Amino acid sequence: MLRLPAFAYLQPTSLAEALHMKADAGPEGSYVAGGTDLYPNMKRRHQEPKTVISLMGIEELRGTRNAERGTAVGASITLTELQALRDRYPAVATAGELVSTPLLRNMGTLGGNLCLDTRCNYYNQSYEWRKAIDFCMKKDGAICWVAPSSPRCWAVSSSDVAPVMVAIGAEYRLVGPKGERLVPAGRFYHNDGINYLTKQPDEILADVRLPAPDGWDAVYHKLRRRGSFDFPVLGVAAWVKYEGGGKGEGERVTDASIVLGGVASYPQEVPEAGAALKGSTLEDDAIAAAAEAAYRPSKPLDNTDFELSWRKQMTRVYVTRALQELRGRRR
Ligand SMILES: Cc1cc2nc3c(=O)[nH]c(=O)nc-3n(C[C@H](O)[C@H](O)[C@H](O)COP(=O)(O)OP(=O)(O)OC[C@H]3O[C@@H](n4cnc5c(N)ncnc54)[C@H](O)[C@@H]3O)c2cc1C
Ligand code: SF4
Repeated sequence: MLRLPAFAYLQPTSLAEALHMKADAGPEGSYVAGGTDLYPNMKRRHQEPKTVISLMGIEELRGTRNAERGTAVGASITLTELQALRDRYPAVATAGELVSTPLLRNMGTLGGNLCLDTRCNYYNQSYEWRKAIDFCMKKDGAICWVAPSSPRCWAVSSSDVAPVMVAIGAEYRLVGPKGERLVPAGRFYHNDGINYLTKQPDEILADVRLPAPDGWDAVYHKLRRRGSFDFPVLGVAAWVKYEGGGKGEGERVTDASIVLGGVASYPQEVPEAGAALKGSTLEDDAIAAAAEAAYRPSKPLDNTDFELSWRKQMTRVYVTRALQELRGRRR
């Protein structure tokens, strides 16, 4: 049985208190929300904080409220609570619902999901397993076992909700010792398996600003081995904006975004796929062009489940299905 190492556990009740505690703890301090990612990682010695600072007692991080141009969703709401947004934001709710099992969704939070550690078959293993093959550069080692001549880590962005946030143009409110800032979701992620977030380690993701649902629609589709449980090995978030608000069948798409999860170290937007949809009515030809455009840069590596060339092929299939669902909703 894997055991947690010893650590101090702190429970601040305000953002200011949490930031002070993190400053005192320094690099050996870590925030935790539901703990469904951090604690398993600590058991495998991926992260070894001496001080763990819980964000769950901070009222400001819970609940949803109206914000300028949309809705602000507190980072500490659970993925189960996220389901309350289904009427206005069905793609966000669906992505949250597709995460793991009900038990994990009752504990796991939106913020934890959006800050989820990247994953790799050579990393998500026990300390002893990793030691036996000699550690890799993401933790304790110097080499990448997936691409041994590579100077960087290729661990995979495996959050289900993050691709949707990037596709719909959500913004994240970050609070740190120097104040707060709003960051577009697309700029919060970095294509690097080790430094996969652009936020500073002491910054707290306070809430997520969802744009008002006026004239656009979005969907999320997920590929995984076991439908009841597994991480995504491919996620497709598709967003389209219509000229007349999306109520009529013949309305043209004025803007679109296709974002892939599970194929890179960040949620990967494919601008060419979005461009292929502009001016279309989501007819078959436009969908095929977008699926082909998304297929080309989709370059999964051999470090998650399933055979990688099959996963690449599935990009076409899943983008097609996602766009067909969007088209079907208008009829
Ligand atoms: C068996 C299993 C299956 C899983 N399947 C999936 C899946 O299919 N899809 C998926 O997306 N995830 C999956 N997960 C991962 C995880 O359960 C979820 O992503 C969950 O939403 C993480 O939220 P949390 O609150 O538990 O995160 P935590 O473990 O509390 O935190 C995760 C990371 O985020 C940081 N963090 C958390 N909140 C904040 C904040 N507000 N500000 C700054 N940093 C913060 C923490 O410091 C930590 O580094 C799975 C996990 C397990 C164990
Ligand atoms: S991609 Fe390479 S460096 Fe990154 S976790 Fe996997 S084996 Fe380690």
